[in-house]
Amino acid sequence: MRISYMAGNWKMNNTRSEALSLVKELLDNGSFKNKILVAPSFTALDAVAKVVEGTDLILGAQNMSTDESGAHTGEISPLMLKDLGVEVVILGHSERRAIYGETDIIVNTKIHLALKHKLDVIFCIGETLEERESGIAEKIVTDQVVEGLKEISENELSAITIAYEPVWAIGTGKTATPEDADDIHKIIRRKIEDLYSKDAADKIIIQYGGSVKPSNVKELMAKPNIDGALVGGAALKAETFIPIMEYNK
Ligand code: PEP
Repeated sequence: MRISYMAGNWKMNNTRSEALSLVKELLDNGSFKNKILVAPSFTALDAVAKVVEGTDLILGAQNMSTDESGAHTGEISPLMLKDLGVEVVILGHSERRAIYGETDIIVNTKIHLALKHKLDVIFCIGETLEERESGIAEKIVTDQVVEGLKEISENELSAITIAYEPVWAIGTGKTATPEDADDIHKIIRRKIEDLYSKDAADKIIIQYGGSVKPSNVKELMAKPNIDGALVGGAALKAETFIPIMEYNK
């Protein structure tokens, strides 16, 4: 019932010309039966926007300011993203949380601002290895859901995709087992039911992220609560991203 949604987060990789070559390869050689997004760096967004316009490839940004404008040196406003043709913004990525100190309150503020400007959101959550080993993974992700979605209405929730990304599996080559990942996805879906409704829980797309690659995408996506993937490393090459984006549920 839920569509498969595959998203490539290019992080701080690819110059503008490299981004253009990659996106052209995806458009020329990939098929777009699933919902597919790429999130290049800010400096490549304008060039990539012109190439993806009118195609099925959705353009995302990797982050956004908490504010619309003003004295925020180095920050990017949702108005600037909209102006470039960006449709989706990734918020709360664990690298933003861990390296740049983004708290649940900051993530929640950004989600509200993105929705105000009609940007869809990929809202990232996930526990660290330490948290998992202490047996508090479930509490960490459900708290992140509650705090990140504070004051978000059920109607607004339809513009939000959740990406469950266990921090210990990002960029490490370690993937959660499909069973472990599905267990947490189920817990997240149950929390959405508690906070909103059964209908909202049935509809929300929950991606898995953490070392997804062509060799493991099939077993992960076979799980009932895993609806797609947020992909880092394997999204940087057409030869590894195309088999993921073309995955057939
Ligand atoms: C990510 O950046 O969100 C991610 C999941 O990275 P990787 O696929 O490289 O683990």
